[in-house]
Amino acid sequence: MKILVINTGSSSIKYQLFEMDQDQVLATGMVEKIGESGSIMTHQRRLEDGQFQKTALEGRIANHQEGFQHIVSFLGDPEHSVVKDRSEISAIGHRVVHGGEAFHAPVVIDEKVIEAIRENIPLAPLHNPANLMGIELTKEIVPDIPQVAVFDTAFHQTIPKRSYLYAIPFELYEKHRVRKYGFHGTSHAYVAERAADYLGKPLKELNLITIHLGNGASMAALQNGECVDTTMGMTPLSGLVMGTRSGDVDPALPFFLAEHLGMTLKEIDGLLNKESGLKGLCGTNDMREVIGKKEAGDEQASIALEIYAYRIKTYIGAYFAALGKLDALIFTGGIGENAPYIREVSCQGLEKLDIEIDSERNNQRGDGIREINTSGREVKVLVVPTNEELKIAQETKREIENY
Ligand code: AMP
Repeated sequence: MKILVINTGSSSIKYQLFEMDQDQVLATGMVEKIGESGSIMTHQRRLEDGQFQKTALEGRIANHQEGFQHIVSFLGDPEHSVVKDRSEISAIGHRVVHGGEAFHAPVVIDEKVIEAIRENIPLAPLHNPANLMGIELTKEIVPDIPQVAVFDTAFHQTIPKRSYLYAIPFELYEKHRVRKYGFHGTSHAYVAERAADYLGKPLKELNLITIHLGNGASMAALQNGECVDTTMGMTPLSGLVMGTRSGDVDPALPFFLAEHLGMTLKEIDGLLNKESGLKGLCGTNDMREVIGKKEAGDEQASIALEIYAYRIKTYIGAYFAALGKLDALIFTGGIGENAPYIREVSCQGLEKLDIEIDSERNNQRGDGIREINTSGREVKVLVVPTNEELKIAQETKREIENY
């Protein structure tokens, strides 16, 4: 069975076509800078020897509709594709950022679902409109292929009230659904399942802390396999230090910025979401560069890394307290998978919690799941590569089979 996964952003569309029998990527690509003069589409298809053949298309792609048409014609064209006919594609899975309280699981898309995603736009004004546009355009272009929405927030819908309600007037929750939602759910769910396979235990018997460190970053606490807390909130701004997002700050900071620096709401939003985090502290949001700068003696970069790792460590402590017992700590995402230094510093001094990293294991490279704790420690520390697209494809397959 072949499943196409689509992630529509405000100026880009990413896609991957999977052969589900082998969890194999058959084709992958991206349309970028939609609406700009320098739009570019890259498409790669798998050849018989497992290598990927890359094709690029440059020139203005005026809007998302054109973008989707290019994708569909690349996928249906024998020269670029691995499918003879697009009817071979059994279903399309869409990444949708915000499912609000309406969606606890993936869902086959119909008019009601589209309406519910639309109702959640105020909760994710940057993401949901683009996700929705992706759904509506694909429905228009390939109406015969069933479509499934997989939500970033769904995995966190098991969080209890004590951790999802903010201590503000309750009416704001009742009338406007102001609460913690959490994001990166697809990644947290995927790595937790992979870790359970690795540990040889059912997920529902495991307490885990999952640490997703990419450009965005978040942690989740899982009790008996279910999410009970996470660091992102109503929006993806709270919690850990990220590439350009501040993570936790005093909620009164915007008042100070408005009153003393005369900043507007829009400017404050831009400051906290796009100019803060690693970029705000040391001038770059790319972790490889930050580590490089630190190694070259840059003091600001050193401080940025200390703050970054300290925030992770204090959340490990908080979630340990929330869970009472911990089976494994899981690092994932571009940084979690590839930056041994960050893993080491985040876990330093946690021996009393039975968390200790073995430096040699931590520094070994590898593609699969790796165990990096010292032998004999009760808490396993694992590096688990994430694969959100594959998880979306798997969920899509399950939904249409059960529909
Ligand atoms: P993601 O959003 O998951 O693709 O992660 C992007 C982040 O991973 C960027 O900050 C990259 O600098 C970081 N990253 C990727 N490879 C490495 C590496 N080898 N060492 C440190 N950071 C890395």
